Amino acid sequence: MTGRVFETREFTLHDGPGVRTTVFMKGCPLRCAWCHNPEGQSFEIETMIRKNGDKTLCGRDWTAHALADELLKNADMMAQSGGGVTFSGGEPLAQPDFLREIVSLLKESGVHGAIETSGYAPAVVYRDIIPRFDFVYQDVKLLDAAAFRRWTGGSLSVVLENIAYLRGCGVPFAFRVPLIPGVNDDAASRAAFAAFADGCKVEYLPYNTAAGAKYPLLGRAYPMGAIT
Ligand code: SF4
Repeated sequence: MTGRVFETREFTLHDGPGVRTTVFMKGCPLRCAWCHNPEGQSFEIETMIRKNGDKTLCGRDWTAHALADELLKNADMMAQSGGGVTFSGGEPLAQPDFLREIVSLLKESGVHGAIETSGYAPAVVYRDIIPRFDFVYQDVKLLDAAAFRRWTGGSLSVVLENIAYLRGCGVPFAFRVPLIPGVNDDAASRAAFAAFADGCKVEYLPYNTAAGAKYPLLGRAYPMGAIT
């Protein structure tokens, strides 16, 4: 069993409790126009080429055991800080078999596991994988079906069905809303997010002004253009 990962970032502080390692998994079924990890969208291994010619390979295949061994090198630090490992991406649920295995290996070692997901996955996958985690960051990007389709390329109903499950499954979670200027930061959208949260925890993420920086390195244009 191998999984494809484009980055493992150690000592992260904003992806769950304590000090963590965040694993960025390759591949995503959505194409959010503001995505700040474009190298995580394709399932293929890609090369980023900087202006000075330096190249960075985006994507590496790991066996679950090899990645678990790598992550567990920081197990002491994680335990001392109440931290753990967070899976992000890309969309981690797009590699469900690998995710199931790696989470199980980490759990055997007592490591706290979190996932950050768009929720854009078949319900059968979501319901199988989500309860294996200790904490879930569930993206809420847009609540209007036409706008969701326009800006992400996907169907909102898939996400809403999975969120309905999340609300009742007993796993602690928080909604994460990336506030994108001109897309979902207006008063009506913010009121809709608050009503949708219905008392659950919501983290609003500011627009990442560096979001477009990686696109030219991949030979692509940033879909959002210039945003202040
Ligand atoms: S769901 Fe996340 S990784 Fe996928 S395209 Fe959207 S922002 Fe990028």
